[in-house]
Amino acid sequence: MEGAIIKTYYAQKNNIDPKDIVVVSVMPCTSKKTEAAREQLVNADGLKDVDIVITTRELARMIREAGMDFNALPEEGPDADLLGEYTGAAVIFGATGGVMEAAVRTVADILEEKDLPEFEYKAVRGVDADIKEAELTLGGKNIRVAVAHSTAAARKLLDAIKDGSAPEYTFIEIMGCSGGCVCGGGQPQVPAQKLMDIDIRAERAKALYEEDSIMPQRKSHKNSQVDKLYKEFLGAPNGHLAHELLHTTYAKREIYPDSILEE
Ligand code: SF4
Repeated sequence: MEGAIIKTYYAQKNNIDPKDIVVVSVMPCTSKKTEAAREQLVNADGLKDVDIVITTRELARMIREAGMDFNALPEEGPDADLLGEYTGAAVIFGATGGVMEAAVRTVADILEEKDLPEFEYKAVRGVDADIKEAELTLGGKNIRVAVAHSTAAARKLLDAIKDGSAPEYTFIEIMGCSGGCVCGGGQPQVPAQKLMDIDIRAERAKALYEEDSIMPQRKSHKNSQVDKLYKEFLGAPNGHLAHELLHTTYAKREIYPDSILEE
């Protein structure tokens, strides 16, 4: 999404030819390398939304190889213009339940028609259960949500939805990795011996929730630059341009013949 916005909105605002922009994404996820090459993420001019993907582990290695003492660098924030602002809602995306909680923070304000002072939804946090559920009443409406993390949990949840044994959900979140992106395949690895003493999924999520708790803005719709992006460029949320740039489609693929899915 960011890549598509950089090569359109950001390019226009800065009067740069999108062909002269190289978007490099630093990701927790090895799958993002494949994703960047998907034909659905190439624009009408043949430009990829994202040109290069490196994982957080690769970035850490590059920093080490370059001999940089990262901890001694002066504190610096993101670029202030256009696309630098972020909220606590964005920070928690990396933990299982984070995308759901961020969405509910916004939906709650919309349905209640006010800036709610209480907006932490702890029922969708944590790694103790691989599928978490919560029920909320917002603006007089009953909302039921489910969060699954790991592909095994995703399969369990989707099977339950398909065979009708699951209740009707308003919204579901699925993360491929157990714990969410904090434990993505591209993240720094922790020695197995250390993993006997700590649950790295919970430790990394804790760091994200701590950062969220001190952010000046913690709801996505309070991001003034996103607000400006919609007003100046995208139009209404879910509008035509937003769909074109921020949504994608998938094609069905054959499963491997020896996949356990065929059992
Ligand atoms: S949960 Fe895992 S597979 Fe999904 S985007 Fe995050 S790192 Fe990638």
